Amino acid sequence: MKIQTRAVHAGDRRKPQTQIPVSTPVHFAASWINESQAEQDRIFGAEQKGYAYSRYCNPTADALEELVTSLENGHGTLACASGMVALQHALTSVLLDRPRRVLCARDIYGATIKLLFDVMGSYGLETKFADTNDLAALEQALDEFQPGCLLMETISNPLLRVGDMPAIAALCKARNTVLMVDNTFATPLLMRPLEHGADVVVHSSTKYLSGHGDTLGGLITTTEQFHETVRRLSRIAGPVMGPMECFLTMRGIKTFALRMERQCQNSLALAMWLKNHPRIEAVYHPSCPAHPDAAVIDRLLPEGLYGGMVSFEIKGAAKPDIFAFLDRLNLVVKATSLGDVHTMALYPWISSHRDVPPALKAEMGVRESLVRFSAGIEAVEDIIADIDQAL
Ligand SMILES: *Cc1c(COP(=O)(O)O)cnc(C)c1O
Repeated sequence: MKIQTRAVHAGDRRKPQTQIPVSTPVHFAASWINESQAEQDRIFGAEQKGYAYSRYCNPTADALEELVTSLENGHGTLACASGMVALQHALTSVLLDRPRRVLCARDIYGATIKLLFDVMGSYGLETKFADTNDLAALEQALDEFQPGCLLMETISNPLLRVGDMPAIAALCKARNTVLMVDNTFATPLLMRPLEHGADVVVHSSTKYLSGHGDTLGGLITTTEQFHETVRRLSRIAGPVMGPMECFLTMRGIKTFALRMERQCQNSLALAMWLKNHPRIEAVYHPSCPAHPDAAVIDRLLPEGLYGGMVSFEIKGAAKPDIFAFLDRLNLVVKATSLGDVHTMALYPWISSHRDVPPALKAEMGVRESLVRFSAGIEAVEDIIADIDQAL
């Protein structure tokens, strides 16, 4: 054969290996070959399990999805290209045959608010906010608005509120409202929402699960009731994660529990140290006995595992003071994101909560003097030393 032909065919499409590699290979193929047209016919007709096209399923994605289903104790998982597209696809799937109304926790990731209003709102989705930490008010909101879905985060951003998931799930069940939980901040090490009655769990795996700040990703894990719809719509809409990202995410997850334990220890030590610092006005950490959700935290989170985030206010600090403080940090990485191996700092006032109306910010308790830290896995003495010199 001529070189032009060999360039296209040689080396590829070898027989599947009979030995099992210790890690899942990255399958970059867009499509698969079958033994015969009859076999392809059976696979297309879903009479036989097999691979046809990577928008439907891919072996590297399958491996990641099986892993996450196991961690979240769910029925099935879809790996998506980002946390945001996972949220969008999950909402589209559960609202297919339900009222197109979402009751959204007031304390929620900024881009989620924009997704609900600027993207899905344009297609007729109605969204209202509720305080998921006030069960009586939440019950009233559910009755008045009759949403198809309630969307909340396990640990909220940036004030780290924790809702009473089993109680909220019971309120939703009684009304045939789907409970969707963004579990990004907690990870399945701290909380597995499906075990508490949630129907759908979404992750931005960009954060703790991948953990190294090198890949975007989202995950949708559901009960049996919703998995088929999530899959069926995904085969058409194709929000899927690429095979390289699946590999990186799976590699990251292997150490996520170790990292998360260390990040929880470090954020706890940081919170303790900050509380005694004369420049600090207030510390927000789920370990604080004065935390407004202390009883729920005590019941739902494992002892000592309160998450890797800590937020705090600097006494009398306005925007220029916070800028100066953050500019003085040397070790701490100042970038948007969280959950990475390195400690990160973010100023909600100009970033995540920039577009939140002032009155709503005041109601949420997000003040100009508030900064948010994501503890990394460094030696905590070094993190403290950096923050100390910057204060
Ligand atoms: C980052 C984040 C998202 C969005 O995920 P991407 O991977 O950035 O698309 C959603 N929810 C929470 C809580 C997040 O922190």
